[in-house]
Amino acid sequence: MPTPTEAQAREAIVRAMRALDAKGLNRGTSGNVSMRWEDGLLVTPSGVTPEALTADSIVRLSMDGTADPGALKPSSEWRMHAGLLARRPDVRAVVHCHARHATILACAGKPIPAVHYMVGVGGGSGVPIAPYEPFGSDDLARVVAETLEGRFACLMANHGLIAVAPSLGRAMAIAEEIEEQAAVYWGTLAIGGPNLLSEAQMTDILERFGTYGQKR
Ligand SMILES: [Zn+2]
Repeated sequence: MPTPTEAQAREAIVRAMRALDAKGLNRGTSGNVSMRWEDGLLVTPSGVTPEALTADSIVRLSMDGTADPGALKPSSEWRMHAGLLARRPDVRAVVHCHARHATILACAGKPIPAVHYMVGVGGGSGVPIAPYEPFGSDDLARVVAETLEGRFACLMANHGLIAVAPSLGRAMAIAEEIEEQAAVYWGTLAIGGPNLLSEAQMTDILERFGTYGQKR
């Protein structure tokens, strides 16, 4: 796949934010998306609705948060995006949203266990929860990066969901699947609790995922 131009990357971020809204994974101005760009990142601006978002409104930042002159104010969560991109050379895109079921579990302090084999798209046998820290803080950026170590998704206590991947399309697919798994787990809790897969069954699944599908 040829490397996208900056204009294409900006358009892809706009489409991703609109898709999160259309799929019911996010509402209004919450949630934010970024892509690695050169030595820094492209990230959604603060407080702009998906409908009002344009390619020009996407903010180009250096890893220390310096924006181009005249750019809009970046997402309040830019530290979390920059921190993950700086710490994870394997990651090129970050998707953060307040998807309902993932947020319900994050607010109940319930990590997603091995309720269904597709939980494995998060890179482990369950989806953990990063401890609560205030939105936009350096502490939140740190605890999310620590919780995501070696993984592609985690819940954020009393807040929402975050997914990372080598491409924006993949990060979007992981966020969508983890929200589905959150809904499945939430449903099982309502009818007596899940019948969990074993650690050995999940290890087998993670090995199968390593050779399954398209590698991008
Ligand atoms: Zn948020």
